[in-house]
Amino acid sequence: MKHIGAHVSASGGVENAPKNAASIGADAFALFTKNQRQWVSAPLTDKSIELFKQYCAEGSFDARYILPHDSYLINLGSPDEEAQQKSRAAFIDEMSRCRQLGLQLLNFHPGSHLKKISVEECLNRIADNINLALRMTSGVTAVIENTAGQGSNVGNRLEEIRYIIDRVEDKSRVGFCIDTCHFYSAGYDIVGDYEGAFAQLDSVIGLEYLRGIHLNDTKKPLGSRVDRHESIGLGLLGMDFFTRFMRDSRFDDVPIILETPDESRWAEEIALLRSLEA
Ligand SMILES: [Zn+2]
Ligand SMILES: [Zn+2]
Repeated sequence: MKHIGAHVSASGGVENAPKNAASIGADAFALFTKNQRQWVSAPLTDKSIELFKQYCAEGSFDARYILPHDSYLINLGSPDEEAQQKSRAAFIDEMSRCRQLGLQLLNFHPGSHLKKISVEECLNRIADNINLALRMTSGVTAVIENTAGQGSNVGNRLEEIRYIIDRVEDKSRVGFCIDTCHFYSAGYDIVGDYEGAFAQLDSVIGLEYLRGIHLNDTKKPLGSRVDRHESIGLGLLGMDFFTRFMRDSRFDDVPIILETPDESRWAEEIALLRSLEA
């Protein structure tokens, strides 16, 4: 059975995320544990942590299917030393917040070279910073998301994610998340060659490292390297893709998160996806 949800709002407090997820019929969800557009947020209060855990229990949300997303400001591969330090500190803070909430995963975009360093140098910095963060925290897995490769973002090629994972010392606390919109935009043809694309994913990275899926349709063509999500069934991936995906048991044990643009459709999208499960 699949576990499906959306990246829900935590506005007003993290404890609102499981409530928002329950209201759309989800059994998985993603959230920001702090304001995603600020470097520093107030620590989580004991009350907030307690309520978060209580609402997760009431909504039967298992930590394995909750995939927090880090701040968009963080760039672990930054060419700038000061920016890297800030990113590292913020990332460690996010990992600690996840731990406080009883969560096990932290999803993040690998980083950007900003055209100032090579892709390889950027990947090395990301791996070094993950190692540092893992050493300073416990219990939370760093979940690297594939990107569309827009601008100077790294992580659009599966080999790049593999390269980072290879350099992470504690393999038990590193994994990856596949965003289907990004995957297609990056040039992996999950529509025309579903089996081939996922076989490549398995051979290059290994499905044993898969910790989550961002299930999004896309507005932009194969290989465009442009990141524009679309509601399920309204974009270029099409319902045949979503049907195959929902019947593919390889994706049963990870959180499946919608980051589709129209929140008002989430309940309907989740119900539609469930109806496709064989
Ligand atoms: Zn995503
Ligand atoms: Zn995206």
